[in-house]
Amino acid sequence: MPKVVVVGAGVVGLSTAIHIQKQRPSTQVTVVADKFEKQTTSHGAGGLFRPNLEHLLGVDPDTVTRWSHEGFNFYSKLAVSPEAAETGHMVMPGYVFSNTEIKNPLYKSVVFSFRQLSSEELEKLAVKYKFGYQVTTVITDCSRFMPWLMRKFKEQGGVVENKHVDNLEEFVGKYDVVVNCSGIHSRELVGDRSVYPIRGHLIRLKAPWIKYWVYTEDSAYFIPGYDSLAIGGVRQKDNYNLEIDPKDTAGILERCYKLWPSLQGAPVLSEWVDLRPHRDPLRLEKETMKFPKGSLNVVHNYGHGALGITLAWGTGKEASQLAVQCLSSSTSKL
Ligand SMILES: Cc1cc2nc3c(=O)[nH]c(=O)nc-3n(C[C@H](O)[C@H](O)[C@H](O)COP(=O)(O)OP(=O)(O)OC[C@H]3O[C@@H](n4cnc5c(N)ncnc54)[C@H](O)[C@@H]3O)c2cc1C
Repeated sequence: MPKVVVVGAGVVGLSTAIHIQKQRPSTQVTVVADKFEKQTTSHGAGGLFRPNLEHLLGVDPDTVTRWSHEGFNFYSKLAVSPEAAETGHMVMPGYVFSNTEIKNPLYKSVVFSFRQLSSEELEKLAVKYKFGYQVTTVITDCSRFMPWLMRKFKEQGGVVENKHVDNLEEFVGKYDVVVNCSGIHSRELVGDRSVYPIRGHLIRLKAPWIKYWVYTEDSAYFIPGYDSLAIGGVRQKDNYNLEIDPKDTAGILERCYKLWPSLQGAPVLSEWVDLRPHRDPLRLEKETMKFPKGSLNVVHNYGHGALGITLAWGTGKEASQLAVQCLSSSTSKL
C-alpha cells in the first residue's frame, strides 16, 4: 500500500490529506503535526471567503480563480446542506467599502452575488467611503470546520501522529511522498526564508444583532461566526509576537466603533493573535529532496497568507494531484 505523510494539521494540511484519500483511496495517509485544532492558525481565523488577487502576488490570476472556484463550490454546497451546523458554513451577505473603485473583482465571478452600491445606498448606511459593494459569500466558522475536517480524515482511514518534525529526512524510506503543509514553519523545516509572518489580531464580541460582515481597506472589519463576532484587525509584517498588545486592542476597537457605531457596547468575549503564513507566491510544487539517507518526493503547499481558508480546498486538490503523480511515477520501495 502506498504511503503518504502530510506535515501539518491546519486547514491546508487536512484539506490536502482528504483530497489524497479521495483521489487514491488505496493510499495510507498519515498527518503529522505538533499543533492541532485550537493551537493552529486556521482554527481562529475569521473564515470569510474572500477571493482576492491583491494578497496573492506572483500567482497568475487564472490559477487563483480556479482555486477560488474549487473552494467556493465546496463551501457553498456545505453551507446549504443539512451538515452546515456541523461544518460551520454559513451563506452570509456583507459589504466591502473602499475609497478606490474595485475593478474586475474576483468576487464577482465566484461568490453568490456581487453588486455595486449607489451613492444613496452608501448614504443610508452612513459610511464615509466613496465606493461600496454588496457581496453574498460564505463564512466558515473554523472552530467547527477544523474538528469536522479532522473527523472526516479519520473516518476515511487517516492516521494522526502528534510530534514535531525537525527534518524531513526522517521520512526517507518510510513514506513514498511527503506533503509539506507546515505554513509559517516552513522557514525552519525546509529553510525557506521567503515565507514570513503577517501578524493578525481578532477580538471576539457578543453582538448577535450583527447578521452580516463588513470589510474595509483601513484595518477595520468584522465577520460573524456561529457564537461570536470577530472584529479586526492588524497586518504586521515580520512581527512574531503572539502576545496580545493592548495598543492593538485599543486601535481595533476604536476603528471598528468608528466604522460601525452599533458595535459599541457589545461585550468582549476573547482576543486572539496569530501569524498569517505569507509568501509571494504561495508555494505549490513538487521537489525531489536529497539527503545523506536517500531522496524524498516532496510536495510543498504553504504560504497562503490572509487567504488560507479561502484557498485551502483548491490548493489542496492540486497538491494532492502532484502527490498522486509522484506515486504513479515511482514504484513503492517500502
Ligand atoms: C487574524 C487572522 C484572520 C484571518 N482571517 C482569514 C479569513 O477571514 N479568510 C481566510 O481565507 N483566511 C484568513 N486567515 C488566514 C488563515 O488563517 C491562514 O492562511 C491559514 O490558517 C493557514 O493554514 P495552514 O494550514 O497553512 O497553517 P496552520 O493552521 O498554522 O497549520 C500549520 C500546521 O503545521 C504544523 N507544523 C508546522 N511545522 C511543523 C513541524 N516542524 N513539525 C510538526 N508539525 C508542524 C502545525 O503543528 C500545524 O498543525 C486569517 C489569519 C489570521 C491570523
